[in-house]
Amino acid sequence: MPETFKVELDTPAYKGSVSCNTGLFINGKFVDAVEGGTIDVINPSTGKLLTKVAAATSKDVDIAVAAAKKAYKTSWGLKVPGAQRGELLMKLATLLEANIDEFAALECLNVGKPWSESRGFDMKLTLQTLKYYAGWADKVHGHTIETNEQKLAYTRHEPYGVVGQIIPWNYPLTMVSWKIGPALATGNVVVLKPSEITPLTALKFASLVQEAGFPPGASLESNVSPSGATAGTAISMHPDIRKIAFTGSTLTGRKIQEASAKSNLKVVTLELGGKSPNIIFDDADLDQAVKWAAIGIFSNSGQVCTAGSRIYVQEGIYDAFIKAFSEAAAGLNTKTGDPFSEGTIHGPVVSQTQFDRVMSHIDAAKAEGAIPFIGGERHSLTEGFFVKPTIFTNCTPDMKIVQEEVFGPVAAVVKFKTEDEAIEMANDTNYGLACAVFTENVSRAVRVSNALEAGMAWVNCNITTEYNVPFGGYKQSGYGRELGAYAIDTYTQVKAVHINVGLKI
Ligand code: NAD
Repeated sequence: MPETFKVELDTPAYKGSVSCNTGLFINGKFVDAVEGGTIDVINPSTGKLLTKVAAATSKDVDIAVAAAKKAYKTSWGLKVPGAQRGELLMKLATLLEANIDEFAALECLNVGKPWSESRGFDMKLTLQTLKYYAGWADKVHGHTIETNEQKLAYTRHEPYGVVGQIIPWNYPLTMVSWKIGPALATGNVVVLKPSEITPLTALKFASLVQEAGFPPGASLESNVSPSGATAGTAISMHPDIRKIAFTGSTLTGRKIQEASAKSNLKVVTLELGGKSPNIIFDDADLDQAVKWAAIGIFSNSGQVCTAGSRIYVQEGIYDAFIKAFSEAAAGLNTKTGDPFSEGTIHGPVVSQTQFDRVMSHIDAAKAEGAIPFIGGERHSLTEGFFVKPTIFTNCTPDMKIVQEEVFGPVAAVVKFKTEDEAIEMANDTNYGLACAVFTENVSRAVRVSNALEAGMAWVNCNITTEYNVPFGGYKQSGYGRELGAYAIDTYTQVKAVHINVGLKI
């Protein structure tokens, strides 16, 4: 029997217990992994072990998929009216809402997110997303199509069946809601794999799935199986999974697409990495541009796929921008630390591996001649994986720090002269997730945001995400859209029905 992880917290932000099961959630219950393996879960604020969770292998994935397949045939899919699916999703949202502080605290422990982000942003968006898709469940329908008088033609938007969902560690529970919300609303069943680094809130959420009364095994994210490439590969190769929705790195996205091609040509949607440009024109509101640029690159310690990690600043405003932006970074540095402390707004990066990755990007930038105007080193806190908010100047377009995703609190600033030059440099990347434009000139705002090759464009704001607005990238940042009505389309396949109402041959 899998054990329960439980700790008592007495912090300024949260007082009480946090707990979750440490097993795999398969077929409506928590079980040990077939091979008995476990994964260490680390607290990034201390570097110490929090707990161990069950590690799934392909054997567990097989069991989870079989359970999901059975449930799809017997107790979910189009057998269950949309209204009923919506009610269950809404019940799940209500249960989450009742326990939201505990979920926020668990996320702080496992990811190192400051309480203000976890409770103030992640949990709010998670809840909104679940409620929004609960509302969609009875509104998915096809169309009738005029052809001729002898034929009735219409379309049905049908689920795929078993859907595999693989998510990263930067927004663990929010990513669960983005994935399962539209999938379950449209009648699919889900085999979901959280990141092995941050499985705790997904496991806790699985117990709410049980409590809400979803049909065992199938109907939900049941089948939560942490464990990295082993379980992920098993999901992406599985012949009974018809669609994969993946959020993570471009490297892994490529492997998932290959696995789909080698197995059964699953439909794949990919939300991948980014290197999003922020363009700040001379006529921008400087104070606002600085604040939004800081939010863009330092939120969640820069571990945001849409992070504004390339900042292009027009020459007339450059010096003033750098001065104010580095003051913002210095201010954040003094508010770095324990996620549960009052006033903390900058936490650690998620793991030792991520810390080493970020530091190696910083070292490479220095070696290439970029100047760490501020930061560029480990924070003085002695334990945990804390990186100082870092701003590189003297950057040129070909440098790695300008081209490669760091996924840490590291901005590369580049000076530009003309609008055309800024657009050219901003588009000079393999990525195309997001961009931001800062200007008081509305014509320029529209012109430049139209010219940038990205799936999302912000004007005079940055990285704000709404549950009902589509989210996704261009180029090697992936394809398909999450959130909003667009996500509903990615979880349904269209059947065209032709009915002969008069043609005799
Ligand atoms: P990752 O690609 O290493 O891992 C993502 C998930 O894939 C994890 O659950 C992991 O266990 C699993 N995985 C690893 N190898 C696999 C394989 N061979 N087959 C199948 N699954 C496998 O990414 P990460 O380090 O967890 O997350 C950071 C990356 O995610 C960044 O590049 C970031 O930009 C991206 N990201 C993108 C978005 C978006 O919406 N575009 C959102 C968040 C994060």
